[in-house]
Amino acid sequence: MKYFQEKAETMPLSELRKLQSEKLVKQVRHVYEHVAPYRRKMDELGVKPEDIHGIEDLPKLPFLTKGDLRDEYPTGYLGVPMKDCVRIQSTSGTTGRRVVAFYTQHDIDLWEDCCARAIVATGGSDEDVLQVAYGYGLFTGGAGLNGGSHRVGCLTLPMSSGNTDRQIQFMMDLGATILCCTPSYAAYLGESMKERGIAPDQNPLRVGIFGAEPWTEEMRQAIEKSLGIKAYDIYGLTETSGPGVAFECQEQQGMHINEDHFIAEVIDPETGKVLPEGSKGELVFTSLDKEAFPLLRYRTRDICILSRKKCACGRTFIRMTKPMGRSDDMLIIRGVNVFPSQIETVLLKEGYTPNYQIVVDRVNNSDTFDILVEMDEAMFADTVSVITGREKALVAAMRAMLGIGPTVHLVAPHSIQRSEGKAVRVIDKRKLVTDTQWLGK
Ligand code: ADP
Ligand code: ZN
Repeated sequence: MKYFQEKAETMPLSELRKLQSEKLVKQVRHVYEHVAPYRRKMDELGVKPEDIHGIEDLPKLPFLTKGDLRDEYPTGYLGVPMKDCVRIQSTSGTTGRRVVAFYTQHDIDLWEDCCARAIVATGGSDEDVLQVAYGYGLFTGGAGLNGGSHRVGCLTLPMSSGNTDRQIQFMMDLGATILCCTPSYAAYLGESMKERGIAPDQNPLRVGIFGAEPWTEEMRQAIEKSLGIKAYDIYGLTETSGPGVAFECQEQQGMHINEDHFIAEVIDPETGKVLPEGSKGELVFTSLDKEAFPLLRYRTRDICILSRKKCACGRTFIRMTKPMGRSDDMLIIRGVNVFPSQIETVLLKEGYTPNYQIVVDRVNNSDTFDILVEMDEAMFADTVSVITGREKALVAAMRAMLGIGPTVHLVAPHSIQRSEGKAVRVIDKRKLVTDTQWLGK
């Protein structure tokens, strides 16, 4: 069994708890002293740093949400002077919803360690050639895996996303053995290689490390077959540094959470109550080591189950299932975060009624994104060419707001079914809910 940091990754539970407790006490003090909006939250609850003696006191602390971070855009949750930071990254989020995450060099080092652990957990080593086809730039995927790959000592191909011809050429010519990208792009690469007559056993790849968006076991199998590889899951979010917060080992029975750096809780999204291990609920993270962006009890909105059952790989870190859904209405379409409210904003601004429906599906492992929008009687009386022009204009407005372009269908007045209760705004046919049984193994 290979570990990147064996001592941490296989730490006995009692030792881990002690370590987490010590770090938490320190981190709460750091946040209280340096992050004014969180100090206000603690003051409102009447909690002082002295009240936190260890992880058993964690539930005393207030939750933090994406909304809180957005309200304090961009620097309100910064825990150190800006001059001590060496980088930012930002959510794949969209206009008005971006969160800026700050990093000191220490924060980057530990993030890269987390990604290095993920690479080694799949059997990766300095013998490997690792192709990073996650986007570079503000998105965390490229930077995280790039850093992790360096730390492991792999030869790193910093391809960034897109330019499929070049991806395939470098993969073949330089002998890439590990591919890191979103699962949708991996599926697309598989198809593209098939079209070019490259059979799965003709490419040099051995392993894929895929994440940043939901994907199913079926999709995993399809990718494994089309690329002739073993595909591993990796999870993270910009707010907690990026990918690598959790990763799959070779047992592939859930993703180990890097618990020496993060405390994971699962809560009831309605009541905020902490649920016992094995319950399905919203995942909440406390970052124990981050200096620049030290979030306590951050609500991810991702729904999952945690398990502390022993893993055959020897790692003692708790495992999470794949995210099984979201507790808010955020959709991840082709890797981009989309909120129905943004679509509504565009429609109202462009003079439409808020009668619309979003239909998302996955065809050939790639997301389709359609929006049905009702016209009013006057628009409906227009000529076909006027209506087509309106559709085009809406697509452009949506693309400007969301960062990706949907297919817009203008439909007849009153043709979208009205609902008695909450409007059915989103029809997601991608069947992303996964089987929960396997964590029990
Ligand atoms: P990024 O910019 O890295 O996409 P975001 O913070 O915008 O980060 O998105 C993070 C969200 O992406 C998570 O909260 C989760 O919903 C989703 N996500 C990340 N990794 C995975 C994964 N392996 N499986 C399913 N969903 C994932
Ligand atoms: Zn394991």
